[in-house]
Amino acid sequence: MSGSSLINSLHRRISRRLERDPISARVRRTLVRTLYTQPTSLAVGAINGIVATSLAAWMIGDDFYTAFVVLFSLIGVARFLTASRLSRENSTATTRKLVVVYEVGAFTYAGLYGLIAAMTIVYHPGASVEVLIVACALCYGVGVSARNAGAPFIANGQMVLTFLPVFIACLYMASLPFLVLAVTILLVAPAMASITYNVHKVLRDSIASAEESERLARKMETLAHTDVVTNLLNRAGLNQRFSQVMDNAQADNTIAVFWLDLDRFKEVNDLLGHQVGDKVLQETAQRICDLMPEEAIVARFGGDEFTVVSPVANRKEAERLASEVHADLMRPIRIQGDRLEVAASIGVALWPEDGQDAEMLMQNADLALYHAKVNGRKQTCFYDSSMSRNLARKREIEAELRAAIQKDELSIFFQPIVDLETGKIKTFEALVRWFHPEKGELRPDEFIPVAEDSGLIVTLGNWITVQAARAAAQWPEDVTLAVNLSPLQIKAPGASLGILNALREANLAPERLELEVTESLFVDDSEATELFIAELSAKGVRFALDDFGTGYSSLGYINKYPFSKIKVDRSFVSGPTVGKKTEAIIRAVAEMGARLDMSIVAEGLEEIEQVRAVREAGCTLGQGFYFSRAVPDYLAAMLLAQERESEDGALRKVG
Ligand code: C2E
Ligand code: MG
Ligand code: MG
Repeated sequence: MSGSSLINSLHRRISRRLERDPISARVRRTLVRTLYTQPTSLAVGAINGIVATSLAAWMIGDDFYTAFVVLFSLIGVARFLTASRLSRENSTATTRKLVVVYEVGAFTYAGLYGLIAAMTIVYHPGASVEVLIVACALCYGVGVSARNAGAPFIANGQMVLTFLPVFIACLYMASLPFLVLAVTILLVAPAMASITYNVHKVLRDSIASAEESERLARKMETLAHTDVVTNLLNRAGLNQRFSQVMDNAQADNTIAVFWLDLDRFKEVNDLLGHQVGDKVLQETAQRICDLMPEEAIVARFGGDEFTVVSPVANRKEAERLASEVHADLMRPIRIQGDRLEVAASIGVALWPEDGQDAEMLMQNADLALYHAKVNGRKQTCFYDSSMSRNLARKREIEAELRAAIQKDELSIFFQPIVDLETGKIKTFEALVRWFHPEKGELRPDEFIPVAEDSGLIVTLGNWITVQAARAAAQWPEDVTLAVNLSPLQIKAPGASLGILNALREANLAPERLELEVTESLFVDDSEATELFIAELSAKGVRFALDDFGTGYSSLGYINKYPFSKIKVDRSFVSGPTVGKKTEAIIRAVAEMGARLDMSIVAEGLEEIEQVRAVREAGCTLGQGFYFSRAVPDYLAAMLLAQERESEDGALRKVG
């Protein structure tokens, strides 16, 4: 049999043996690797054989031993070198190759050691050489049993190959001491085999359980970093991968962070159920992954937010990717026969210009996303530093606003709403004012949105209603009070109770209160809104639709809710867009008001011509600087007193 066919047949035999073994491939490989882990102990075995045979050759001067010295040296060096090479962790050698290589070396060496020991017994070159060689051979046979317990077949094979020739030689000599040695070998061999199997079992079990723990740990880590709905990374997963990307980022690279938020996803979830919602998220995830470069990291941040971290050539490429995502997400998604249209808002921050580290970039992409949403959704906003400045100012205002409520820096001003026929004040609208000790007067447009964002609006709104109602309680019975309500205030729990308490506290009849709401309240038509309006209407509180014409201007809301007043936004009265069209619109709204028994207020009247025009168009009430600006409560009371005292009773002539 040639060398290569011997190796091949060994290979086949080992393959069959490995296939029969039920332990996992990884455990088996680790066990086989233990054969290679200590090349020094291999060297010790080889050196021992060389030294013993060299000593024998020197003592006896026989070429036979010299030949073994050469053979042992060659095999020893070859085994040590291959073991050193294959023992490296990154070695690509297969388990089978490791076994074959080791088996060939080990069996040859052990067979030769057994052979020389047997021949030494038979040729009897002298007691000391005999003791030396036979003892060393037997020690070797015993020693490998423990060392190679990772592969019992090899360990036992080596033991048998060293023990068997010695055993046969002992029987051949047939003297009592040799027969005792033969019996000893006969007893030691199975004992060592059993020890080998036991050690192997312990080794195998501990490797298997270490493997299992490692597998579980890996699985847990994967789960902890994966979003179960889309199989994308979750926040923790993204954070980890993002930090790695930042660690490896080169100075001449550009990295884009896209933060996507699906517009009105909540409605899909609420109306069609969570299963459909999940399918939308999965489809969205798939579309994003398909569009983004292969090396991009895509993650989902709970809810309907997705984040992509991707290398890009430049800002233009980031723009192109974002617009492709918009276009692709617009394609309707078919789920259970329904065609769903999804759109997203996207905020983008670029490394290195928009932030040095992952945290900063995420924060700025989020800020850009916020701007994209505020600007009307379905669009992409790239971060720029003014966004941070605005945010800083907002934070500052938020902190100061909390203190301002405590320190009484806020006050309520009142602007009259006048009957365009008689010029008499019918209502005062309460408008909040903030006189900041350093910044001067701050406009509500600036701090009301901050109060809404921070949730402070509920406290602030209640305070405003109480203060305004107290002032109104001093006015003549026929003058009513209008208070602006923010949508968030209305959706807060117990909102209607808050209003009724304020009225009771100020001793103002509910019929004298009018709440001004804008159409943004109805965008996500909620039960809370309906209940709030129904409860307060039942008590006699009236509702006015403020800033009509700036939002959705849906007749649906007017039909659904009991508005007693519609306030046409001042952009229809003054400003660049005013013309034939706006006049026709005011006329149509006024006509509708007359038919539905609602008052129509024209806002922002500054000139007498505007007053005449809106009255001519059919508006019944007017508000604006022409009549009066918003004034403090004592001036409002004075205006009323003047009006009652003056002859014609009008605040200002309108005719
Ligand atoms: P709004 O409810 O539409 O109030 C009318 C705004 O128009 C007031 O601005 C008023 O000063 C201004 N205005 C009145 N007549 C004229 C005019 O002839 N020309 C011009 N150019 N402006 C006129 P203000 O007080 O700055 O309030 C702005 C907005 O802030 C209000 O719009 C309202 O939406 C909100 N707001 C004001 N006070 C409160 C409040 O107490 N609570 C809530 N939730 N929002 C408030
Ligand atoms: Mg208003
Ligand atoms: Mg208004």
